Amino acid sequence: MPEPNESVQRKILHVDADAFYCSVEERDDPALTGKAFAVGGKAERRGVIATCSYEARKSGVHSAMASYRALRLCPELIILPARFDVYKAASRQMHAIFHRYTEMIEPLSLDEAYLDVSQSSQCRGSGTLMAREIMQSVCEEVGINVSVGVAPNKFLAKVASDWNKPNGLCVITPDQVRDFVFELPVEKIHGVGKVTAQKLHNKGIMTCGMLRQYSPVELCRWFGSFGERLWELSRGVDDRALELDRRRKSLSVEHTFDEDLHDEQSILTQVKPLIEDLSQRFQAIRNEYSVTKRFVKVKFNDFTQTTLEEMIEWDDQTPEAHFQSLVIRAWQRGNKPVRLLGVGVRLLDLRTSGQMQQLELFERRGRRI
Ligand SMILES: [Mg+2]
Repeated sequence: MPEPNESVQRKILHVDADAFYCSVEERDDPALTGKAFAVGGKAERRGVIATCSYEARKSGVHSAMASYRALRLCPELIILPARFDVYKAASRQMHAIFHRYTEMIEPLSLDEAYLDVSQSSQCRGSGTLMAREIMQSVCEEVGINVSVGVAPNKFLAKVASDWNKPNGLCVITPDQVRDFVFELPVEKIHGVGKVTAQKLHNKGIMTCGMLRQYSPVELCRWFGSFGERLWELSRGVDDRALELDRRRKSLSVEHTFDEDLHDEQSILTQVKPLIEDLSQRFQAIRNEYSVTKRFVKVKFNDFTQTTLEEMIEWDDQTPEAHFQSLVIRAWQRGNKPVRLLGVGVRLLDLRTSGQMQQLELFERRGRRI
């Protein structure tokens, strides 16, 4: 019988690009290398620093700092406007590399993700070797550096990726967990914010090792249900599974007809319920996604098929009419009897796009005050 721990031993990687926006800017303009620069909003528009170079950090500049303050601390600071399309492209390239190792990926932001490589046979199953390869591939193919933490769970993988930043690799093997966590300051514990950290400090508890002296009952008395989590995390135990990327890229419905459709009128009639069905399905997820494009698929009776898509305008009020004209245009491409019609939309995940608008929001908020 294997030890229970052995059978559930996991290998989690936490990959995190170093000063992501700045790394991309430096890649595209090597003259920035070694300079104090940042990506952020303009000082005169009450902008905020999104990311800053390591050189700028030496002067005390950090992210979320008002740009005018950053300039006061570091007068030579160069502040570049954000180029989100370029960062998104770099993020997609990074994810393509991750997918070579596992499908179990939990994205945390554009430049940060957990990878569960427990089942991966790449690199003879070595998480350390996979981490090295990922660092090298991202460097060669995307042109930026990432740091990687390798550990048996998410909590420690994230702590580890931060350990030797930038361009660092830190591996915590299962038998190192207890010792590694012992010295760890309590503020590094997942879920411990300023308030909880202060509470712990007030009790003289500075490290996980000190925290281990208390029973779960005592910790629950002080911290409610989080006390039990503290008891586990201070021992390096974290069973959280990865929240895998199940976000949709598109939504569509289609129907194969018993009898082929021969003319424009029958196509228009038959596509109507499909559009209704699609719009009903979209209602269920409308808070999480916005629609960027609509597309149609037409399959002819000789099994050839064609798809056609178009951008959706922001003031688009008549989706049905647009779908109808699109499907007719697609049909005219083949001009043959139709056996299948499909309608769909391409989606934008509002959760990730919200993050990308953060900067602009910072600026807008600043202007309003
Ligand atoms: Mg990062």
